[in-house]
Amino acid sequence: MAKKKVRPKLRPKDYKSAVKPTWCPGCGDYGVLASLYQAMARLELDPANTLVVSGIGCSSRLPFFVRTYGFQTAHGRVLPVAIGAKIANPELTVIAVGGDGDGFSIGGGHLAHAVRRNPDITYVVMDNEVYGLTKGQTSPTSPLGFQTKSTPYGSSDAPINPMAWVLASGVSFAARGFSGNPKHVTDLIIEGIQHPGFAFVQTMSPCPTFNNTFDLWRDNIEDLPAGYEPNDRMQALTQAFRDDAIPVGLLYKELRPTLESHTRVAHHPLKSDTPDFDVRALLEIYR
Ligand code: SF4
Ligand code: MG
Repeated sequence: MAKKKVRPKLRPKDYKSAVKPTWCPGCGDYGVLASLYQAMARLELDPANTLVVSGIGCSSRLPFFVRTYGFQTAHGRVLPVAIGAKIANPELTVIAVGGDGDGFSIGGGHLAHAVRRNPDITYVVMDNEVYGLTKGQTSPTSPLGFQTKSTPYGSSDAPINPMAWVLASGVSFAARGFSGNPKHVTDLIIEGIQHPGFAFVQTMSPCPTFNNTFDLWRDNIEDLPAGYEPNDRMQALTQAFRDDAIPVGLLYKELRPTLESHTRVAHHPLKSDTPDFDVRALLEIYR
């Protein structure tokens, strides 16, 4: 009898592509990339069945450095492309990546709708509160008074709060980590990928070249309070709005029907034997 082929176990370095990262020395995105390699290895993701999608920006270069399928889309369009790929092939592990400018400014209109549709994808945002690729302008998360070449007298725009935004939009998984603690980020990415639904993982990932927040954030990062249970949206919002610290960890998680469960309908061109969609039956399953 022919022996069953066993896929050799992959190590983190096996997920590295031949393209070396081109980020500045000390960029926080290195920590997030290392976390992603670790997470992929621990989950034993099959590179041939994994897609990493990005938009435009420093962090959006990330798919080049990963040995899976990759797609760098137009600026701000990471989520529609990632969702389209997942609908076309629900078996694919889809990881969307990008920065605060790409995701919350030009791509901001997609965020709330991606969140509420709950596709089973993971969105890892590397938030450095600045536009790095274009040499340091204020981004949607830059603090008030932030001085850059584009705002020489300080930014007068209040920053958005991405965590509160996704929580208010109905996100089913929301976590935050710090790229200075890659082991923790690895755990959060793993939980995000395992979560059946849209997983938002905000990583505080400093840009030492244009907004070096490493020391500031290291001093302000704080674990969620002891005994915190990530099942209360209002409690998660309270954590998201804290201004005395940057709480990290899993803020919120719930199970509800995914977009794919809605789209696995009869007449699917690739899966004609799948059952008709019935939202009431689905809600019963998740109850
Ligand atoms: Fe990283 Fe900033 Fe350099 Fe971009 S400009 S690679 S975000 S350190
Ligand atoms: Mg940025």
